[in-house]
Amino acid sequence: MTASGARWQNWARSESVVPVRVERPASAAATQRAVLVAVKSGVRIKAVGSGHSFSGIAVSPGVQLDLAWGGLIDVDEATARVTIAAGTRLHQLPALLAPYGLALENMGDIDRQTIAGATSTGTHGTGGAFAGLAAQIVAVTLITGDGSVLRVTETENPELLPAVRLGLGALGILVDLTIQCVPAYLLHAVDAPEPFEAVLDGYLERTTSADHFEFYWFPHTETALTKTNTRLPPRTGRDPLGRLNRWVDDELLGNAVFRATCAAGVVLPPLVPRVNRLVERLTGRRDVTDHSHRVYVTNRTVRFHEMEYALPLQAVPDALREVRALIQKRGWRISFPLEVRSSAADDVWLSTGYGRDTGYIAVHRYFRENPQKYFADVEAIMRAHDGRPHWGKMHNLDADTLRQVYPRFDDFLAVRDRLDPERRFANRYLERVLGP
Ligand SMILES: Cc1cc2nc3c(=O)[nH]c(=O)nc-3n(C[C@H](O)[C@H](O)[C@H](O)COP(=O)(O)OP(=O)(O)OC[C@H]3O[C@@H](n4cnc5c(N)ncnc54)[C@H](O)[C@@H]3O)c2cc1C
Repeated sequence: MTASGARWQNWARSESVVPVRVERPASAAATQRAVLVAVKSGVRIKAVGSGHSFSGIAVSPGVQLDLAWGGLIDVDEATARVTIAAGTRLHQLPALLAPYGLALENMGDIDRQTIAGATSTGTHGTGGAFAGLAAQIVAVTLITGDGSVLRVTETENPELLPAVRLGLGALGILVDLTIQCVPAYLLHAVDAPEPFEAVLDGYLERTTSADHFEFYWFPHTETALTKTNTRLPPRTGRDPLGRLNRWVDDELLGNAVFRATCAAGVVLPPLVPRVNRLVERLTGRRDVTDHSHRVYVTNRTVRFHEMEYALPLQAVPDALREVRALIQKRGWRISFPLEVRSSAADDVWLSTGYGRDTGYIAVHRYFRENPQKYFADVEAIMRAHDGRPHWGKMHNLDADTLRQVYPRFDDFLAVRDRLDPERRFANRYLERVLGP
């Protein structure tokens, strides 16, 4: 949370701003009042979530809104649909949904984000049959650019639904979202080191045959760490990782050792390939069954910068081979692994998965290293494969290039003209990616 007059910065420390004013409305009515005051005084206004976007999408130089309330507003047990206050953190959801025996259909790697922030940027997990979080939205309430309250559901203003489910914060301030949930389930997770080439060869098959398949590849090694999760009914019984093992895997190996190796890599880049090969040897097999959210979510304490591109699924193996060749050719020392995931096609206009089965390739750099050259050259490869950048992660595209990869881009802009003609919710990032 930012105090008025204090500097706000995002998690990755790549963006910061001193807002003119910070407001913390604690209800839908107070949120509307804050927008009306901003409209009247001609100041721009923007909601921030938990600041976990790497891009400048949440930067709010005018009035910054921190929505100060969260939780369940309504539950329809017959349809498994829940209405949630926009500022609710994802990590609050399992406890809120448990009494109803419900869960999110899929989740990404962490749960620190707000539901509005996560869906507004197209946050996704992995799984060839599962789309991103925004695709689960069936209704929203938002405050539009003139300060009025707008309901968008499958029957009220339904033509706006494909835009407002993933609105980049450009269409209004979301006050609540109705999400299609599923009956709670367990995940049986198998993590295993495997030869990178064989994983590339089998990627397309495994991403469709497994419920949730993903892998990490540490540059300078020949090993991929695969993660294969199978959905199971709750009655199957849990076999969770013991607390000590979890601490050793996630905190000690995943965070503490990794932080030390990244820091060493900044001072002594030639060490990186050797360190990555050491990590390769330390990465063992892991086999657990637990509540879905406990398997999806990891704790990330090592700060990094990230760019992630969504490609047509079939393009992933070739694109990865090109990235590997690029790293070799340039002689870079990259301490962070690449992460490779997938999702089903959806019908959300600005979703990275719009209209096509999708594979994701994410590249990272320790936050004290300059990511620009690495990201720009990888971006050129991704663009050649018709890639779409994650809206919440770093990239260099602008409205002209994005229009080429999103068939409904101009329809989204028309909705923006309708809901925010005065550009109350704009910032520099939105001006670049959507135009003035
Ligand atoms: C360590 C880490 C791990 C991550 N893992 C994943 C992952 O596994 N998968 C993935 O896809 N992404 C991942 N991300 C990216 C992250 O999910 C997105 O950037 C997400 O948007 C962050 O949510 P937030 O609540 O922090 O939103 P913010 O970054 O604060 O804001 C994002 C956008 O949402 C808008 N917004 C927020 N609240 C509202 C509201 N009430 N109304 C309208 N607009 C609003 C903001 O204005 C802004 O445009 C990760 C990020 C980090 C730092």
